[in-house]
Amino acid sequence: MQRLVLWDVDGTLLKTNGTGTDALHRALSRVVGRTPPEPLAYAMGTLDPAIVALHLEALEADPGIHLPAVLAASVEELHAARDELVQRGEVMPGVREVLAALADRDGVLQTLLTGNVRANAILKTSAFALDQWLDFDVGAYGEDAEERHALVGVVLERVQRLRGRSFDPAEAWVVGDTAHDLACARRSGARCLLVDTGWGLPDGAGKEADAFMADLSDTAAVVDVILGP
Ligand SMILES: [Mg+2]
Repeated sequence: MQRLVLWDVDGTLLKTNGTGTDALHRALSRVVGRTPPEPLAYAMGTLDPAIVALHLEALEADPGIHLPAVLAASVEELHAARDELVQRGEVMPGVREVLAALADRDGVLQTLLTGNVRANAILKTSAFALDQWLDFDVGAYGEDAEERHALVGVVLERVQRLRGRSFDPAEAWVVGDTAHDLACARRSGARCLLVDTGWGLPDGAGKEADAFMADLSDTAAVVDVILGP
């Protein structure tokens, strides 16, 4: 038995409680000189480069010109706000216990599958000391594909190339909190554990997932689901 656990970051492992959005707004301010008058609505689970592009379009700035600079500035701004991130942010219930319990099991490899760019994903999870259980090098991040569902294949390839391990998509669990996470798993043949963090889950999405929980606080139940048949 082996399992590849692909963790979403925002809403699933942790919440930044606005620190991430604030960093993006400061980055926009630096690069294009203005920010949206109100926070923009976009679907939770969207990849970061697409979120930046949406903001640039709303500000009538050309993503083709400004996107790389805003992404780079958003990484710098979030790094500068690390202390604020730790103060305002929070690890979701049960996450530390589940990460630790799964890390103790033979055959389990845990990494990130997230719309965050790699630098921000590592910063956020490391700020809350979750990095000890995650193999970042085989993860897949916002800059690795145009669409979230393609990120599963990116992880499988990296695991094979960097760790010499081969996983079938059915041995992979996407753990997430939005319809994007579910669609990502469905389109790639992975399984999906959805957690209801109150963001972005349409009615009925829980029933479509392979497993659905209000949160991850029942460590034994989560481990049973992931290691189950
Ligand atoms: Mg999420």
